[in-house]
Amino acid sequence: DKGCGSEPLLAVRAELGECTRCKLSSGRTHLVFGVGSPGAELMFVGEGPGADEDQQGEPFVGRAGQLLTKMIEAMGFRREEVYIANVVKCRPPENRNPEPDEIEACEPFLRAQIAAIRPRVLVALGKFAAQTLLRDPTPITRLRGGWREYEGVRLMPTFHPAYLLRSPGEKAKAWEDLKRVVKELGRTIPGR
Ligand code: SF4
Repeated sequence: DKGCGSEPLLAVRAELGECTRCKLSSGRTHLVFGVGSPGAELMFVGEGPGADEDQQGEPFVGRAGQLLTKMIEAMGFRREEVYIANVVKCRPPENRNPEPDEIEACEPFLRAQIAAIRPRVLVALGKFAAQTLLRDPTPITRLRGGWREYEGVRLMPTFHPAYLLRSPGEKAKAWEDLKRVVKELGRTIPGR
C-alpha cells in the first residue's frame, strides 16, 4: 500500500523539528523538508533550497523546479506521485555549496526519509548531490547515466535542472538518464 509510508515519514519530520543542528538554521525562512508521495517509487534528491524554496518551504519551485516538474511529467509521472528532497534542508547563504559539517548534520534525515519512503529508484540531481551521496568526486559529466547505489537503493546521477537551464544542449543527455530510470521502473515513456 502506497500510503503506508506516511507515518514513518511524519516521524522523521517530527524528529527534525525546528532544527538547529547546523549553522544553516540561522539564515532560513522555512525548513524545506520535502514534497510528494510518502509511498513514491521514484525519489529525486537535489542539493539544497534556493531563494524561492526557502520562501515557500517546498523544494524545486523556482525556474529549475518548473523544469524538473516538466521532466517528471515527460517520464509519465505526476509531481505529486514522486518524492522530492534535498541533501540539506535549509538554504545556504548566497546559494553557496553546503559545507561538510552541514551535510554531516543533515544527511541522516535524508537517509531516514529514504528509509521511510523506500523508493525503488533515486535520481541525484547535479554534481553536488551525486558526489555527496556517493562519496565520489568523479565529475558529474562522467557519473551521469551510470547506475549506482545509495542506502541500498538504485541511484541514477544526472544533471541538475538549473544546469540544464544554463546549458540546454545537455538536455538530451539528461533525458537519456531519465529514460533509463523509467525502464528500470518497468514503465514506458508516454506517447512513444
Ligand atoms: Fe537542521 Fe539540516 Fe537545517 Fe542544518 S540544514 S539546521 S541540519 S535541517
